[in-house]
Amino acid sequence: MNPLLVNVAELLRRPGSERVVEVDIPIADLGVDDPTRFAGDAEVSVRLRLDALSDGIVVDGVLRTSWIGVCRRCLVDTSGVVESDVHELYQRVVTAADAFEIVGEQLDLRPVVRELVLLDAPSTPLCRIDCAGLCPNCGVDRNLEDCECEPPPVDPRWSALDVLKEEGFKRP
Ligand SMILES: [Zn+2]
Ligand SMILES: [Zn+2]
Repeated sequence: MNPLLVNVAELLRRPGSERVVEVDIPIADLGVDDPTRFAGDAEVSVRLRLDALSDGIVVDGVLRTSWIGVCRRCLVDTSGVVESDVHELYQRVVTAADAFEIVGEQLDLRPVVRELVLLDAPSTPLCRIDCAGLCPNCGVDRNLEDCECEPPPVDPRWSALDVLKEEGFKRP
């Protein structure tokens, strides 16, 4: 059974009416199989509102997806929750450029949810926004300890700029 398959017959008959879809769906039920980004028991929290228009249905809301991964700077295991905004238009007769088609009286939200989950879950995450990473020279995790390594050599073109800047400061 697909909890994101919504019967919209009633909505289509009554423009101005709305319906709420709130479901936590296992990532596996979305047909997503990527153990590098999602734990086996990961779920997507789906909180959507469907608003009936005279010629279609607007779907608005937010998804919250738990992700896992390895920090791209310091290589520790990390995890988080990513939010995806949903704003889609569905029409029986598609007239808007970015609208999806409603076939019959069923609206399947699963493809859109799946696409946003795959798009928004990071594939090269950070453990935190200011992760200091590993020293490129000795490999020490600079979040945990300092090392004695020299900072990387400065590009001579930038040194020249520094000199100019210093001279500038000296001027009265
Ligand atoms: Zn990190
Ligand atoms: Zn070092």
